[in-house]
Amino acid sequence: MSERKTGVYLCSGCGIGEAVSMAALEGVAKAEYKLEAKTHACLCGDEGVGIIKADIEAGVNQVVIAACSSRVMTDRFGFEPIQTLRADLREKVTWSHPAGDEDTQALAEDYLRMALAQAPKIKAPEPWQEGDFSTRILVLGGGVTGLTAAKEAAAMGHDVLLLEQSDRLGGRACDSSKRLPHTPPYAQPEPNDIDALVAAVRGQSKVTVRTGCSVTKTEGMPGKFTITLSDGSVEMVGAIILATGWRPYDATKLGHLGYGASPDVVTNVEFEAMLKAGKPSRKSNGQPVKSVAFVQCAGSRDPDHLPYCSSICCATSLKQALELIEAEPATNAYVVYEEMRTPGTAEELYRSAQAAGVVFIKGKVKGVGANLTVTVADELVQEDVPLSGLDMVVLATGMVPNSTNPDGEALEVGAELLVGDVDPEAPIAVAGYCGDAPAAHVKRTQAAAPGGSLLNLQYRQGPHLPVLHDGFSDSHYICFPYETRRTGIYTCGPVRRPMDWAEAAEDASGAVLKAVQAVRSASAGAALHPRVGDLSYPKINLNQCTKCKRCTVECPFGAIDENAETYPIVNATRCRRCGTCMGACPVRTISFDNYSVDMLSTMIKAVKIPDEFSGKPRILIIACENDAIPALDQAGIKHNTWSAHVRVLPVRCLGSVSLLCISDALSAGYDGVMLMGCKPGDDYQCHFVKGSAMAAERLSKVGDTLKSMMLEPERVVQVEAAIADADRLPVVIDKYVEQILAIGFNPFKGF
Ligand code: SF4
Ligand code: SF4
Repeated sequence: MSERKTGVYLCSGCGIGEAVSMAALEGVAKAEYKLEAKTHACLCGDEGVGIIKADIEAGVNQVVIAACSSRVMTDRFGFEPIQTLRADLREKVTWSHPAGDEDTQALAEDYLRMALAQAPKIKAPEPWQEGDFSTRILVLGGGVTGLTAAKEAAAMGHDVLLLEQSDRLGGRACDSSKRLPHTPPYAQPEPNDIDALVAAVRGQSKVTVRTGCSVTKTEGMPGKFTITLSDGSVEMVGAIILATGWRPYDATKLGHLGYGASPDVVTNVEFEAMLKAGKPSRKSNGQPVKSVAFVQCAGSRDPDHLPYCSSICCATSLKQALELIEAEPATNAYVVYEEMRTPGTAEELYRSAQAAGVVFIKGKVKGVGANLTVTVADELVQEDVPLSGLDMVVLATGMVPNSTNPDGEALEVGAELLVGDVDPEAPIAVAGYCGDAPAAHVKRTQAAAPGGSLLNLQYRQGPHLPVLHDGFSDSHYICFPYETRRTGIYTCGPVRRPMDWAEAAEDASGAVLKAVQAVRSASAGAALHPRVGDLSYPKINLNQCTKCKRCTVECPFGAIDENAETYPIVNATRCRRCGTCMGACPVRTISFDNYSVDMLSTMIKAVKIPDEFSGKPRILIIACENDAIPALDQAGIKHNTWSAHVRVLPVRCLGSVSLLCISDALSAGYDGVMLMGCKPGDDYQCHFVKGSAMAAERLSKVGDTLKSMMLEPERVVQVEAAIADADRLPVVIDKYVEQILAIGFNPFKGF
């Protein structure tokens, strides 16, 4: 970088100039940082932006803007490739604190100091763009989901390699008689149109189809995956879509519902095949079926079997009953259910079934006799009711995700490296906990389901894609559906959660958009969600590395492998730029061009700490930029107020916070440190999956250190913050400030 020339611009608009002294702020820049600041009454207006642009023309190559939150006016204050830093004087200062108050002024000056201290510690990132990148997309699975993904990716101009393990395309849809309604009026079963989808894919020149083929090995990273196939061939792809679908729950485990005792107790999948083959007949004697009971939740929502709702079994039974009655109007169809789950348009199918004469019995099935008598604990009449005279009992069994290869060699659950991971059940033993949220619990996410890996990832963190509950492929279900903890690999369809044909097709389209974004971002050296477009990536100074492997273990995305000398090696396009590795490294040897422990510590130390006789504590809030910072911004927009004694330091993720930052803060004289970030745990909301869990894990070890320093453990706390917490967080902050005042000032203040 040529000589750094930093321009400093202050905005007095939006009420800032009426609440704080701009002259004093200019004075801070000049006296403490030898920088001339320019103040404008509307910096985001054409004139204000014009002043900055003119200075850039004249040689300014780094811009510091003290105005509104960094989350707004990004278009006005974007001067690429010039780096722009922001200090928030609006949402977190003048809109949330009283005007003309000396504490508000001190707050504004400290935020300006933090930005001015940050400026010399960073440089514009240079993207990682080594070698060739592939924009081809691998789709694993040739059912409805995979076929739709292949079709959509090709329509977006991408070459697709579609792999199907069996010898046919179409998946389970090929065995369906009709499909659930997906067009208005959504009232009747609709024709099975899987052949048309298969033909569309086969006719698409950009799609290469391989059936009877699977993946034996996956190496590399987004834009550069090398895939070895079961036929020995090797392919390069840029992104991977996992669309391996589902299989029915093993009905042999449902002996209590008569399965296996009578051939006329069948699963919904077996019954579907009968409907497709023609008019169903009894397996026992070949006689036509005139009276059928459909037993809902056969193994679903049952802690001994599948604890979840498979979501489509109710509608499937309604469809099957309607098909039966359509073929033979005299058929008696009974549906025994505990709750009928027909959300959205499926309600129309429910109405059709009622109108067609299907009999609905609300209750739990207590057993199915060998003579096909179904005993129902009827909820309406509050007694056991036998349902007899049946020709067939159809068990509505649920969906099990094909997130692993059941025929493959079983890999141990927890195959992912877990060194340093957290106790599955233990509460976060943070030094202190503040606020009205319940104490958070960290649960270790199951790393792999039993069975062989579908991709056999050659990653340091193991061959499996991590899975969430009950074997479903991991996906950040709140913010980033389809994304897994292995960057560039996306899941969609029933391998992600139970869903029907139409939903699976929509899901496939969503995953394709992610995959396309992955291959395009990889070649540009840019990050994916949530730091979309970030060009920085972690750089490790191996001269200082002690090979402790913490970075390798803690990276939520398996981005770090090891070289032959067991030094950590970052796969740049797998990296999501969370900085968790940086926070983990005990020797501070991991940094980004624009983010480092040194930068954070310098910003922390830039704040002026009043002495204990002032009666004014200083509390550092290290806040995650994903939810906590937007929530605080929103609090400011709502003119909620909170203590002016806190200083907020935004970070990429709590995972990026090194314990050294906390000890630096306490040594500098802060009276308390609050980490504010997303909810950790199995049902995580952490945007980097386990960054906030890692922070909690690290923090759990701080208490003893604080005690050995004769500091109260309650001085360091972690609180959960969600995007909608604009009203709650100011209360949490003020309570914590009161708590710190009750504890007393940091005895290290002034040393
Ligand atoms: S921990 Fe985060 S920043 Fe570090 S390598 Fe992994 S994804 Fe990248
Ligand atoms: S955490 Fe730091 S010291 Fe440990 S292996 Fe990674 S880079 Fe090396």
